[in-house]
Amino acid sequence: METEENKIRQVLEKISDPEIPVLSIMDLGIIRSITLSNTRNLDNPTVTIGITPTYNGCPAVDMINMEIRLALLENGYTDIRIEQVLSPAWTTDWMTAAGKEKLKTYGIAAPDKKFSIPADGVECPQCNAHNTRLISEFGSTACKALYQCNECLEPFDYFKCH
Ligand SMILES: [Zn+2]
Repeated sequence: METEENKIRQVLEKISDPEIPVLSIMDLGIIRSITLSNTRNLDNPTVTIGITPTYNGCPAVDMINMEIRLALLENGYTDIRIEQVLSPAWTTDWMTAAGKEKLKTYGIAAPDKKFSIPADGVECPQCNAHNTRLISEFGSTACKALYQCNECLEPFDYFKCH
């Protein structure tokens, strides 16, 4: 069923993160598993998606679950199960390199592991300076903090997902 899994992977690659539309949920690395069962029923296998939220209680998770369901339905899958995998917890290591790059291009500082504030400062996505300061715990959405660069004075979002 390798090809079927790849087909599902491609469907999921088109789903963007509601918080950061330039990132797909595959970029984010939150999809832990894609499992097909009941494969004797080739026309309608059971699709189980294991998903690890970027943090517990992220308001985006319900939205992402719904998007996954809709996208799979559109592609002819009707027996869909979505399971939350809470352990191990998501870290930014699971983001793809392409995803981190896209974040930066989008003007959002890529998060440190587990959203801790890096000791040498959050890197400014505009000029790469580490001389930055926290303006507000909450940026344009609850998942982001607002920072300002002390070098180029540009404000920017830091993806932290408390
Ligand atoms: Zn800067």
